[in-house]
Amino acid sequence: MRAFVEELRGVLGASKVVVDPAIVSLYSREPTGLSSEAMAVVFPENAGDVSRILSLAYKHGVPVYPQGSTTDLSGGALPERGVVVSFERMNRVLSVSILDSTVDVEAGVRLGDLNIELSRYKYMFPVDPGSVSIATVGGAINAGAGGLRGAKYGTMRDWVLGLTIVLPDERGSIVRVGCRTTKCRQGYDLVRLIVGSEGTLAVVTDATLKITPLPEATVVSLAFFPTLEGFYEAYRVIKSSGVQPLMMEFMDSETVELAKQTVDVSFKAEGNMFLVAVDCNVEAVERIEGWLRKVMIESGATSVYTARSMEEAEEMKLIALRRNLFAAQIAMTAKLYPGKSIVVHPEDIAVPPSKLLEAIRAIRAVSDEMGLKVSIGGHVGDGNIHPAVGYPLDDEKARRKVYEWYREVARIALKLGGTVSAEHGIGVIKKELLQMELEHMGSIKALEIMRSIKRVFDPKNILNPGKVV
Ligand SMILES: Cc1cc2nc3c(=O)[nH]c(=O)nc-3n(C[C@H](O)[C@H](O)[C@H](O)COP(=O)(O)OP(=O)(O)OC[C@H]3O[C@@H](n4cnc5c(N)ncnc54)[C@H](O)[C@@H]3O)c2cc1C
Repeated sequence: MRAFVEELRGVLGASKVVVDPAIVSLYSREPTGLSSEAMAVVFPENAGDVSRILSLAYKHGVPVYPQGSTTDLSGGALPERGVVVSFERMNRVLSVSILDSTVDVEAGVRLGDLNIELSRYKYMFPVDPGSVSIATVGGAINAGAGGLRGAKYGTMRDWVLGLTIVLPDERGSIVRVGCRTTKCRQGYDLVRLIVGSEGTLAVVTDATLKITPLPEATVVSLAFFPTLEGFYEAYRVIKSSGVQPLMMEFMDSETVELAKQTVDVSFKAEGNMFLVAVDCNVEAVERIEGWLRKVMIESGATSVYTARSMEEAEEMKLIALRRNLFAAQIAMTAKLYPGKSIVVHPEDIAVPPSKLLEAIRAIRAVSDEMGLKVSIGGHVGDGNIHPAVGYPLDDEKARRKVYEWYREVARIALKLGGTVSAEHGIGVIKKELLQMELEHMGSIKALEIMRSIKRVFDPKNILNPGKVV
């Protein structure tokens, strides 16, 4: 390892290779509360640097961990010794083409910054995980991230056209895959294979992404329901109306109470929360606003608040409670175990929307049976739910119980025709659940295929080893 670091410093220059343990430790933590240990952090400035890092790592057999902002929630970005490759210095928007509706960006560009740049052209990149202000393009691509606007715009795999990747082979081969055009039939789809591969197959240095015009107007409606059935009735009516909402977000009443402790809101927020946003042209704003209000009230909402633009909704803090879902889940666990270091992994199942209510009820029932306090929220437009329970870092018995709960939640998702991981990825904590899902489908062969693919890309198993498969 020492010889590797010395050689790396010689090749890249000392300023790009940091070994100070205090600094390195900052790149070895995830917001879930998990942490690990790396030997060094490397800061490449271009694809050539990445190629040199991977070629040397191949020669020395040293594990390499590509990293964006480390906001991963499933242990996917954590190093186990080896070196972290941070994209902090590769953060340039390379070009914007409105005519082509594309943008070329380096892997370290933050999604929030990309959208600030694109707003100058009245365009946006629509995938917006809750961590959008700091999540990077490379991290979002590799996590296969989704977000609040997923109800309309899907996830990263719908928005990546082309990639420059570097392989963990002898030469650190730099390969361009995909196209600059929306239609592209380039043999097997290597772009989609890399999207969601969690840094286990190749290192992404830059990407060509699709972009889309900012909507003319957006209507936002935030409603609170005393019963889950009331919320689901409004959900059912809106989903069946032919209108395609931009956002459909949910938080159960317990989580609303917790979220209120993390953010000040001036309106009355009590009960199960349902947040809906709909894009439209300016002429339709009043009609959509009235329709959303009517649906919410007729379904049993006790309070409804609306805004006529995203900016107004942000000012009124209509989206703030939902944005603080993870903060609420941490607050819940911190309260249960005062003074302890805690771990919180939000679950990330998705079920068909027709099974959403059943899934929420079943998760609550199993949590109650196991004596676990649960917080439930999620991007329900596409049936994606993030229930969470936490445990103290030093309590092995509690950890085992929570892992049994993960399995129970996974069983619920699979029984209802869903999946164990919608957008957060497999990382380390969902490897067993991935296996469970493939067994449930009678497709364990798929895991063998995935492992073979890993060997083709990464014959020495040095790239983010131990993750996904
Ligand atoms: C408060 C909060 C809210 C969140 N909300 C959402 C949400 O709504 N939807 C959602 O999908 N996720 C969400 N997440 C999870 C996470 O933020 C996203 O997946 C995000 O896109 C990760 O970006 P990152 O830059 O932090 O990547 P990292 O966490 O650094 O990395 C993610 C994965 O990508 C790999 N990687 C990073 N960069 C590269 C690269 N250049 N080349 C190859 N591999 C690379 C890493 O090894 C790791 O496996 C949330 C997290 C938090 C803390």
